[in-house]
Amino acid sequence: MGTFEDVLNKAKCVAETAGKKTSEFVEVTKLKMEMADTEREISSTLEGLGRLVYDSRKANQDSAAMIEECMAKIDDQYVKLETLRSKVLEYSDQVRCKVCGTINTDDSLFCKKCGSKLSEETVKAEDPDQKENDA
Ligand SMILES: [Zn+2]
Repeated sequence: MGTFEDVLNKAKCVAETAGKKTSEFVEVTKLKMEMADTEREISSTLEGLGRLVYDSRKANQDSAAMIEECMAKIDDQYVKLETLRSKVLEYSDQVRCKVCGTINTDDSLFCKKCGSKLSEETVKAEDPDQKENDA
């Protein structure tokens, strides 16, 4: 009696997987757009900060408080950018370093943290001790 339910469940499962893939793509696109926006915000805040420093120096004014405020804003924007970046990484193809466990992007050749090679050979070589045994 369970057969019909099994088929139904399988169909439902496939549909859910397909739906998930599509929504993942939409989500990544959204995140990337948000990242681009944030990068633009950072650029314009940095530009504003530069102008603020220039103007205040020219006018011989103390703008330390405003500069602090500007820098805090930029820090917030960087945090936001990093959060978005790690979210995108969660969705995209990624390579985890076998040595230190750092997540690197799919196109990376070396680990950004420890510099270990991330090539397919490294992934395939499950047991490095075996090489020594062969020799
Ligand atoms: Zn590493």
